[in-house]
Formats: sequence, structure tokens, C-alpha cells
Amino acid sequence: MMLTMPYSIAHVALPVPLDRTFDYLIKSEQKPVIGGRVKVPFGRQRLIGVVTKLSNESEFAREKLKAIDVVIDEQSLWPTNLYKLLNWSSTYYQYPLGDTLANAMPSWLRKGREANFASLKAWQITELGKNQDLNKLTRAPKQAKALNLVRHQQCSHEQMLEEEVTAATLKTISDKGWIKEVSLAPTPSYWYRDVEVTQEKPQLNEEQSIAIATVNANPEFGCYLLEGVTGSGKTEVYLQLLEPILKAGRQALILVPEIGLTPQTINRFKRRFNVPVDVIHSGLNDTERLNAWLAARDNHAGIIIGTRSALFTPFHDLGIIIVDEEHDASYKQQDSMRYHARDLAVMRANLDNIPIILGSATPALETLHNANVGKYHHLTLTKRAGTAIPARHGVLDVKGLYLNSGLSAPLIAQMRKHLSEGNQVMLFLNRRGFSPALMCHECGWMAECKRCDAFYTFHQHSNEIRCHHCGSQQPIIHQCQGCGSTQLISVGVGTEQLETQLTNLFPEYKTVRIDRDSTRRKGSLEDYLEAIKNNEYQILIGTQMLAKGHHFPNVTLVGLIDVDSSLFSSDFRAPERLAQLFIQVAGRAGRASKPGEVILQTHHPEHSLLQSLLHHGYGHFAEHALKERKFAQLPPYTHLSLFRAEANNNENVEQFLRQVRDILESHPQFHDATPVLGPIPAPLARRAGKYRWQLLFQAPNRTVMQSMLRGAKTAIELLPLAKKVRWTLDIEPQDLS
Ligand code: ADP
Ligand code: ZN
Ligand code: ZN
Repeated sequence: MMLTMPYSIAHVALPVPLDRTFDYLIKSEQKPVIGGRVKVPFGRQRLIGVVTKLSNESEFAREKLKAIDVVIDEQSLWPTNLYKLLNWSSTYYQYPLGDTLANAMPSWLRKGREANFASLKAWQITELGKNQDLNKLTRAPKQAKALNLVRHQQCSHEQMLEEEVTAATLKTISDKGWIKEVSLAPTPSYWYRDVEVTQEKPQLNEEQSIAIATVNANPEFGCYLLEGVTGSGKTEVYLQLLEPILKAGRQALILVPEIGLTPQTINRFKRRFNVPVDVIHSGLNDTERLNAWLAARDNHAGIIIGTRSALFTPFHDLGIIIVDEEHDASYKQQDSMRYHARDLAVMRANLDNIPIILGSATPALETLHNANVGKYHHLTLTKRAGTAIPARHGVLDVKGLYLNSGLSAPLIAQMRKHLSEGNQVMLFLNRRGFSPALMCHECGWMAECKRCDAFYTFHQHSNEIRCHHCGSQQPIIHQCQGCGSTQLISVGVGTEQLETQLTNLFPEYKTVRIDRDSTRRKGSLEDYLEAIKNNEYQILIGTQMLAKGHHFPNVTLVGLIDVDSSLFSSDFRAPERLAQLFIQVAGRAGRASKPGEVILQTHHPEHSLLQSLLHHGYGHFAEHALKERKFAQLPPYTHLSLFRAEANNNENVEQFLRQVRDILESHPQFHDATPVLGPIPAPLARRAGKYRWQLLFQAPNRTVMQSMLRGAKTAIELLPLAKKVRWTLDIEPQDLS
């Protein structure tokens, strides 16, 4: 008989910003597992960590080691491949494993809770409640509705809110003793036993059939770019691809952009199949998040639809991944681990050996490049399903024209025409606030944030000036701090000013503004969108937020007010984003009976990228833009990583990045093909009192980038200045600010 020696040392990844694991002794009765959580002493605290390795060896003396307090999980939290993916991400994005793993769990698991379903808050009717006569409650319809919902069965709190019963109403009737709070344990479902299509599906057109047949021909890993304008039937392709997967009892993951989570999309998946659909997004509370996570892992959910972080959901048996609007910038996380969910999704599909579909009307240049070189299959849908006709579009040369709050007379005239025909008009301007600066008319002094290298934005609505970079704000000033004059004027145009101006110009129509300021309150965006659909507003003003995923059939005129700021931006991705915005709005403007029109205001109608986009479409634009990227040695032809550093002491920051540069340049793999650019001051050189610098590292390919960064990182961490500045490394940054 063979005796297996139990392991005596657990190597644990902890959520601390140190890129290493810590060793703990295993007590004889403890059975930690790799990928499972343990609670351990760390300094004076107790931390929850994940076991990454079991052994009998430690580089430290045994008597120095502390023992594990509690073993929380008896099995790994993640399936093998997902655990591999997390390890891989930690390495690729140069982010500590402990933090990576912690970020990939619902917060309750991070806090050490058992990985079991949490019960939900729910409501149950009381005897008193049953005795209420609903007909007598006509003056309190909300209360009647709430009572009606719980009349025959318990109803979860969330479900009540979804049915538009407010928490206040629930409190009122529970205070009256008509309902009482209970906790509801979710019941597992066996959805996979008899999956059915519960809705009639359309006959596929030829391109859709080809797309589906191509994917289905290979049940193993393959990455498919599905390019098709809005309305060309991409979602229908997703649905029909899901069918055989679900019928085989396998699950599906659908990633959507941050704001794209519209109920319509979710409902299409819910209506098509009789399988449970769970939705994961930033608005979930901790219980809901844990439950959705467990529902996927324990096979209680067939379909998971979610935003970026849903990528890390464990599945019982994942059969397909879909990334909708794959070009969307929200797939890249901008803090902590700066991962790209689309890129990791491809990696995940590869590890799981399943197909992945990247859908978009305007694929990212990176994705198109991958299709061009044959790494991805390129599937296209060129026809609009249904009968909609493409929008007309035109460039409006505003050189020399008087601009009224950014609006030219021809645009205003065009708006009047569309509005008088009973249609809606939508205007885009990517700048919030009333005006981006406040200036003295006498001496030119400008109100500047004391903590940033930036001007205050004037917000007329709240009567204050605000810094969009550090968030500081103060009441509007009425006197120049340079010469004392009271003649302060606003410079430039923001969405708020546009709104004010349009209300003056078109008093007979109602105007609504959709930006981060106007939609701060939870649920307000949804309310506005609903009101727009109901034609309560005729003029819609918005930042890019308004473009994403929403369809407004009554909008027949779209104006892009300030195209030039994108054409001449310091961010090399700005033209690509402009082109994507243009195609998105052009694809959604109008419908069969009311053709749409898109107008672009610019001082540079001759700009070659603009010409290529307008006359030959996105594909041509992309080809042109890719050539420029190749010439300039920018992604996807090179791979960037960006070191950002900031501190109160300007010299320390610059000095630190110089040393980082020296380290990179002394690497044996360093040669002319991998220039290090900088350090240069960040586009916003000072924020909240801290000086900011950047260093851009450009590598010819991922392998060189990875091996050089890996080598450099240890050396960088040992620099004395590394402790005096706050620094981060952004692999393949989407945003260079
Ligand atoms: P996308 O996701 O590309 O915007 P959808 O899949 O939503 O496109 O399709 C747009 C509309 O056309 C939807 O109402 C959809 O039901 C319908 N549709 C899609 N494919 C077909 C088809 N083959 N025949 C008829 N209608 C279709
Ligand atoms: Zn002045
Ligand atoms: Zn500031």
C-alpha cells in the first residue's frame, strides 16, 4: 500500500500589492485546495487569500511560518481553465495574482462568505393583507399593485422593483401590516433537460446562414468577427448559434458594453428559449452578484449576459462566447487590473476550446487586423434585415460661419425642418458642462483649478465651477482675480450651454440632455430613454453616452457638432472613435418610412479620413486608418505599454521614469525596434496637486513586450524612487491620458 504524504505548506496569494505568494503551515485537520480560499494571519490582520500551490517546502524556516486560520473552500472556486486564465491575466497585465483573484470574485466571497446561494429579501402577504379589498384602494394604485403581486406567492424585493413598485410603497404597506419580509432561497433549476425554442424565429437570409454554418462547422475553438451594420441581423445570428449549444446542455456567455444592457436585448434572449437567463452588471447588489455567479457555476443558468467583469464568471459547461459591440471602449478596464475583456474572452474561448463571436458594425482596427491576417474568420452581413434604408449624410463646412453656441445657421435650419415634420433631432457634443472655461473679458484671466493644470468648467445649472479632473468645485465667481473686473464670459461650448441655447431657439419643442451630469441618479438614464421613446422630448443632446445601443426610430436628423476635436486629437484612436460614432448613429437614424440624415460640422471637410469614411464607408476608412497606423508604427502593428507615475514632487516623478527607461534600455532584448518614448508630461500634467508623467514603451510583438516587462518589473520595484511615486503599468492602453 502506498501512503501519500499530506502537504504541510500552503502558498497563498493575498490581496496585497505585492507580486508574490506567502507561505503558511497546514494543520493536520486542514485540507486546503488549490484555487480555494483560506483565512490567514497577515501582520496584525486576518486576510482572505487563495491557495496557489501546496508543497512541503518553504524558503523560510518552518518555525517562522504561521498556520492557516480557516480553510474556507473544499473545492476550487474556479474551474481549471478559468483559474488558468486568471493566472495568465495576472502575468500578462503585470498585476499581482492575489489582487487579480480577489477582483475576480463577488465581494461576499472576497469577505470570506461561503460559496453558497444567499437568500433573497422577499415579501409575503399577511392575513390582514389578504382581507384588504383591492377595489377600495383605487386612490393608492401602487399599493394595490404591490398587494396584487404577492397575493398568491412570495415575491422577491427585486422583482417588485422591476414591476415598478417602489421601496417606499413596500414600506408603507408593510408598516400597515399587510405584507411581511421573508427570505427566499433560490431554487436550482434543471433547465438543460428539455430546452425549447419558445418563439417563432425568422427565416435566415443567405449571409446569416453562411455565418451560422461557418461557426457550426467547427465545434472547437475559433474566433469569428461578425461584421454587420445595425439591423443587419447580428443578434438573430447569436440567437440561432445559441440554439444547438443550449440544446446540448451547454451554457452561453454574452458580453455587452457598459451601457448596452438594454432590457430589449435581454428580453430577446429570455423570450427565445425556455432557459434561465442571468444578468451581471455594475448595478447588482452583493447578494444578486453572488447568486448570479453561483447560478452560472452550478449550472442553474443557461445564459449569462453581462458587462466587462462577467468575463470572469465560472461556468459549469461553457459552450460559446459572444462579445457584442466588440469595439466598445468600455471593455477595457481603466483601473486596478487594466485588462481588455474582449482579448481575454478570446483567450478564454481558446482555453475552453469553444467558438467565440465578436460582433460589431464598426470593428476595432485591432480586430480587423486580426481578421486580415487570418487569425480571425471574417463574416459579414451587408444587408439590413427589414426594410430600413441607410441614412443620408453630409459634411457641413463651417469655415467662416457664425456659430451660435456651436451651431451653424444651416444646421439650425435643417433642425427646424425635421422638427416641424414631427420628428426628433439628436445632437452630439463630447463635452459636459456649460462651457469648458470662464474668462475675464478685460484682461484674459481664466479661472483655473488650483490643483490641476486645467481650467474650471462652468456649470450653469448648479451655478458652480467644477474641475473635471479632480472633482473640486466652488460657487461661480463673479469677479476676475487678475484685474477685479466683473466682466466674466464663458469660452467654448458644452452640452449644458447647447441645451440652454436650444431651449431659446426652439421654445416650442422640449429638449433633453443625456450626459454624465444629467444621469447621475440611478435609473434616470432609463427614465429619459423611455421618455424619448414616448416622444416626450423632440431635441436630444448628448455625449457619446447617447449613441450606445439605443434605438430611437423617430430621430431623423443627427448632428455631430464638433468633429474637428476628434480629427485633431492627441489620442491616435480619436478618428477611429469618431468613425464608429458616425456609423452607429447613421445606422440608427430614421426608418423605412422616414429616412434619416446625419450632418457633420467641421472646418476641415477635405480631411482624408473623413472623406474616406463618408464616401466609401467604414471598411474603406479602416483600411486607410490601418495604413496610417502601420506607417506611424502604432497598434495593431506594434504593442504599447504605458507607465504612468505621479507624485507631489515633480522631479521625483520624471527621475523615476528616466530610471525605468534606463532599465528597459539595458535589457538584452532592447534594440531599435522597441523605442521607449518619454518620459513626457501626461496630457494633464498636474491633477489634484500631483505631477504626472508618462513613459511609452513600444514593442514589435507581444512576446518581446512581455519578456522585457517581466525582466524590468522586478528591477523597477527595487528602485528607491518607486516608493516615493505612485506608478502603474497599463498594457495595451486604450486611453493615453
Ligand atoms: P442587429 O443585431 O445586427 O442590430 P437584429 O438581429 O436585431 O440586428 O435584427 C434587426 C431586426 O431584423 C430584428 O427585428 C430582427 O428580428 C429582424 N431580423 C433579423 N434577421 C431576420 C431575418 N432573417 N428575417 C427577418 N427578420 C430578421
Ligand atoms: Zn481680468
Ligand atoms: Zn482640479
